Amino acid sequence: MFPSEFEYRRAESVEEAITLLAEQEGQTEILAGGHSLLPTMKSGLASPDVVIDIGGIDDLHGVDRGDGVVEIGALTSYSTVAGDDTLHDAMPAVTQAAEAIGDVQVRNRGTVGGNLAHADPASDLPAAVLAADATLHAAGPDGHRTISADDFFTGLYGTALDDGELLTAVEVPTHDIGTYVKKPSPSSGYAMVGVAVVIEFDDGVVDSARVAATGAVDHAMRLPVVEEELVGTTLDEDDISAAAAHATDEIEAFELMDDNQASAEYRSTLLEVYTEQAVTGVTDRSGTAP
Ligand SMILES: Cc1cc2nc3c(=O)[nH]c(=O)nc-3n(C[C@H](O)[C@H](O)[C@H](O)COP(=O)(O)OP(=O)(O)OC[C@H]3O[C@@H](n4cnc5c(N)ncnc54)[C@H](O)[C@@H]3O)c2cc1C
Repeated sequence: MFPSEFEYRRAESVEEAITLLAEQEGQTEILAGGHSLLPTMKSGLASPDVVIDIGGIDDLHGVDRGDGVVEIGALTSYSTVAGDDTLHDAMPAVTQAAEAIGDVQVRNRGTVGGNLAHADPASDLPAAVLAADATLHAAGPDGHRTISADDFFTGLYGTALDDGELLTAVEVPTHDIGTYVKKPSPSSGYAMVGVAVVIEFDDGVVDSARVAATGAVDHAMRLPVVEEELVGTTLDEDDISAAAAHATDEIEAFELMDDNQASAEYRSTLLEVYTEQAVTGVTDRSGTAP
């Protein structure tokens, strides 16, 4: 199918993009990698009056390593993130999620910012940035602000970004021990359920744990009871399965997604199984708990 007619505008800077966003009348969409926007436009699910292409904004491309933090520009591709071995050591939960996205074409074109701003309930990166306790940077007519990943995902395709705001970067605290695993949809590759885990140890005992899931309900979410159950353990097999048994504790049955990919009941089982796998993956990848 062909999209309906729209006006195409191209921004060369963040400031120009914000001005263009403020000037437009009617429905406006930002074009980043185009891998979610263009299919929805072609299928008629989105018919924006104006499309603002931000792909040429150099400042939004690339990865910066700081002290205890990695800042990823919104237009950075998944391949750039997944293809850098040093990033695998610095933020394994995020690089493993980037690696797990779609196929090579999608990973070359899709952008970190587009993935997070689009907030598809089955996207991989939202779970990883939640587990990693990331901070998102937004720019808009009122200037720059930061939003904690905990506050960013608000519902089905919903985020804390205001109208006219652009996601410019995501800042990920470095973490030695983290992982992401998913059950991919056989048809699309999106996560039927995906779970990310970031853990810190103190003298062989779990000091803090952040566990987050995607694909289960209409937006990525933390699994607080699992986190509480993991703290204070040494992550032996029994600790992990006892904690994973709490994966759905904070989810009402009606909240679980139920569609032609997976029933709510199946998703509930997947969530427990993949939580167990993700935490086990943490111990596998680091040898034993330090
Ligand atoms: C075949 C296929 C398989 C896929 N498989 C997976 C998968 O396994 N896992 C997964 O997570 N995703 C998957 N995707 C989705 C893909 O990762 C998309 O690229 C991503 O969801 C959107 O990123 P984008 O850069 O393409 O954004 P676009 O499609 O350009 O934009 C998407 C939306 O986000 C908004 N937006 C984009 N950038 C910004 C920004 N900087 N600030 C504010 N708003 C912005 C736009 O207005 C638009 O509404 C798949 C897509 C395809 C086509």
